[in-house]
Amino acid sequence: MPKDAEIIAIGSELLTPQNLDTNSLVVTEHLNLLGVDVVTKQVIGDDRARLSEAIRVAVDRSCVVVLIGGLGPTEDDVTREAVADALDLNLVLSLEQESVLISRFRQINRPMAKNNIKQAYLLEGAAAMPNPHGTAPGQFLSTRHGALALLPGPPRELKPMVVNELIPRLKPVLPRRVIRVRTFRITGIGESDLDAMIAPVYKKYQNPATTVLSSPGDLTVILRAQAETEEQADSLLREAGNPIAQLLGDRVYSEKANESLEALVGCLLRKHHANIATAESCTGGLIAARLTELAGSSDFFVAGYVTYTDAQKQDVLGVPKDLIAKHGAVSEPVAAAMAEGARRRTGASYALSATGYAGPDGGTEFNPVGTVYLGIAGPGGTRVVRVRYGGDRYRTRMWATQSALDLLRKTLLKLQF
Ligand code: AMP
Ligand code: MG
Repeated sequence: MPKDAEIIAIGSELLTPQNLDTNSLVVTEHLNLLGVDVVTKQVIGDDRARLSEAIRVAVDRSCVVVLIGGLGPTEDDVTREAVADALDLNLVLSLEQESVLISRFRQINRPMAKNNIKQAYLLEGAAAMPNPHGTAPGQFLSTRHGALALLPGPPRELKPMVVNELIPRLKPVLPRRVIRVRTFRITGIGESDLDAMIAPVYKKYQNPATTVLSSPGDLTVILRAQAETEEQADSLLREAGNPIAQLLGDRVYSEKANESLEALVGCLLRKHHANIATAESCTGGLIAARLTELAGSSDFFVAGYVTYTDAQKQDVLGVPKDLIAKHGAVSEPVAAAMAEGARRRTGASYALSATGYAGPDGGTEFNPVGTVYLGIAGPGGTRVVRVRYGGDRYRTRMWATQSALDLLRKTLLKLQF
């Protein structure tokens, strides 16, 4: 039996720009912990015919099918009826659920409307999953490949039902399987170059499955292995992951899924008892913003200057006027002088600088749009790298920010750049 799941979120409101389906994320999280992969997710409006068609297809092909919402008492809530249509089952009034409903309304001291009785109907053969936070019980039904669950839409009703009712019922039905993940966070390489480098390795494996996520200058490779035991899954991750780690070398800045480059650099600064100042032109403070994003950044961040005009580069950072006149503001000597000036003014152990043409206008023949000089001044002296990015203003600024943080990482780790 394949151990896969699909989720159908039901409700016309979820197809409007105002309402997001968040419940399926909760369901997915808990299914994943059981080793069940969600392979398909749909949002369907309150449409009985479309819904029953989708349910029929889902139950035919998937081990676990989870329906979310549409269990309310009103005419537009049609999930129960759609399942009955799809699987050719009767809806039967459960006397037990009827009395649960009646006592619930008594408890909240409200009269029970006539249409609430709809919620006491169970699909033939289904077990009711109690709902202590609302009126609609969930339902759990065995199917040819596994199970079908009906869950209430309100998030505060759904969440406890998933944890307390659905997962414990699914566990004995499913074969034992765990999912383990290995993550590489990578910088200093574009997505297509990365893929050309590692695809020959990961294409050899279906398990672990590999995905690549990308944002400007920052890539994440995720390997996901499934096996009967954690040890087996980890061994699969080593087999496919170690050659990938070797190919990527120090382009991998972290193997922690949630560790951003700025978080890593912050850790390194703390470890070295060092601190940092920034002198930015074309990045407009983005480097400082990222360095200060995490709580506790005052441990290592001293000051950030955004000096956009030549005059401010001179006045604030002490960049010599004739240096700018001779080489231009976008140049190696000016990037060096900006970093040195920020370091001198603040007394920080390191200072980063960025000066470049983010575009779309500007640039010279030698330094076309997309050219950025990144400088770092530190106890070991000053280094400047010249980088050139393709793409628009946004991408250039993002890439430059990322590269500046990477320059700091490489300097602190004494890596080549
Ligand atoms: P229902 O029982 O489906 O009529 O939904 C009751 C409430 O739960 C409504 O306010 C819905 O907007 C909300 N709801 C239903 N489905 C979801 C979902 N998938 N994610 C988040 N909220 C939902
Ligand atoms: Mg609804």
